[in-house]
Amino acid sequence: MFRWANLGWFDARVLIVALCLLFGVRIHEEFRRQIMKLNKQKSSQAEREFGGTLGATCIPVFLPLTVLYLLCVCRSPAASVLQWPPVLPPTAQLWDPLAPVLILGWMALQSFLYLLPMGKLSEGMVLKDGSRLKYPINGFHALCVTAVLLTLSLWLGMPLGYLFELLLPLAVCAIGVSFLLSLYLYIRSFWAPHHALAQGGNTGNPLYDFFMGRELNPRIGSFDLKYFCELRPGLIGWVVINLGMLMKEVELRDSASLAMILVNSFQLLYVADALWNEEAVLTTMDIVHDGFGFMLVFGDLAWVPFTYGMQAAFLVVHPQSLSPLGATAIVTLNGVGYYIFRKSNSQKNQFRRDPTHPSVANLETIATATGKRLLVSGWWGLVRHPNYLGDLLMALAWSLPCGFNHLLPYFYVVYFTVLLIHREARDERHCRAKYGLAWDAYCSRVPYRIFPYVY
Ligand code: NDP
Repeated sequence: MFRWANLGWFDARVLIVALCLLFGVRIHEEFRRQIMKLNKQKSSQAEREFGGTLGATCIPVFLPLTVLYLLCVCRSPAASVLQWPPVLPPTAQLWDPLAPVLILGWMALQSFLYLLPMGKLSEGMVLKDGSRLKYPINGFHALCVTAVLLTLSLWLGMPLGYLFELLLPLAVCAIGVSFLLSLYLYIRSFWAPHHALAQGGNTGNPLYDFFMGRELNPRIGSFDLKYFCELRPGLIGWVVINLGMLMKEVELRDSASLAMILVNSFQLLYVADALWNEEAVLTTMDIVHDGFGFMLVFGDLAWVPFTYGMQAAFLVVHPQSLSPLGATAIVTLNGVGYYIFRKSNSQKNQFRRDPTHPSVANLETIATATGKRLLVSGWWGLVRHPNYLGDLLMALAWSLPCGFNHLLPYFYVVYFTVLLIHREARDERHCRAKYGLAWDAYCSRVPYRIFPYVY
């Protein structure tokens, strides 16, 4: 039988050391468990955006229905959002076997163009593990090749105007693809290493995480799914749909109206600009901060192509005449908006990439504890989001060619104002957390957020 008294001095010391080690290991384990518990609690209590779980449950139902509803209303003779009961399409109008073929073919074509060795490779921002991903900068090339292919197809007699009839089935398929892709992204994120997860979409609540996106930069090999979806299938798809509406107008009235030409040209300029400056997307919130989940997938693949160009679909059924003076005023407004938007985005992008570049080296800045500096003069000294101001002026110019008899064409400008005010508030929260007192100093130097002397 074991007796303490039988132990020699050496044996007793060994036993004490062993007990201390055992005890130490237990304490260490307990300590680790508590820290992990705290971290888990902290992450699950992290501030939830978009209305938390309730928002993440309702938005994926509500927004797809909104897309279909808006498309129905804008093609109806009254085009009234106030009409009750609301315009609902017969189910037969929601489906066409050609639609999935076109959507999948389109995604395949854009993926092929993404993979072609055209353009340069650029590095993204530094990730949590210190690495930087490489991205092909060939979106503008993809737009040009698509334009050549479209011209060829039109020359061969492709009835592009038929897109008008196909709008609803195409939107239904794009919504379906968004759900499937988001589900795939959610499932695969459980195999991603912890450092590859986004800060906001990793709460442990499946609905919220599915919506916000768990993984920051999901890739299949070198194919970056988020970067691809951000600017290619949806944005290029949007201008192709617009062109389809213009062709439909030509079919119906033998020529394209000035209003339709303006809407097509303004939106083509916006898309071409985004693709020409594709590298700038690498420093935006979507790429740097947000996970890739339903919010971005649906926005990129369904919301943008089917609601942003609604003015063109509206004009097919509700032609508008524009006076030369009215057209000049609208072109000027779009030009001013574009100038502010482009100059301010380029200034910040240049400053973030190389603060010693002669175009930004003389601007006044504030130092922050992170080592990064904040611009307080130039465009970023006018308001805290001059790029949003320019974007909103353009949004208004896109709606004005549709006249003042209907509210619907102004949906985009109203929605976009709400989106950018919400986005600005999100960005402020992130910047305040990142830069602390330096951000407060910036806010007191530049008190207005988007509209000088107003907001
Ligand atoms: P921004 O390009 O506005 O970038 C915000 C970031 O810029 C901040 O997080 C901060 O990041 C940096 N920053 C802020 N203030 C300063 C400053 N004073 N000096 C230096 N850096 C500063 O973000 P978005 O991604 O929201 O917008 C990009 C463009 O895309 C905008 O023109 C917007 O209008 C457009 N957009 C269009 C949408 C559409 O649907 N059409 C949707 C969303 C955006 P850090 O300090 O870490 O660099």
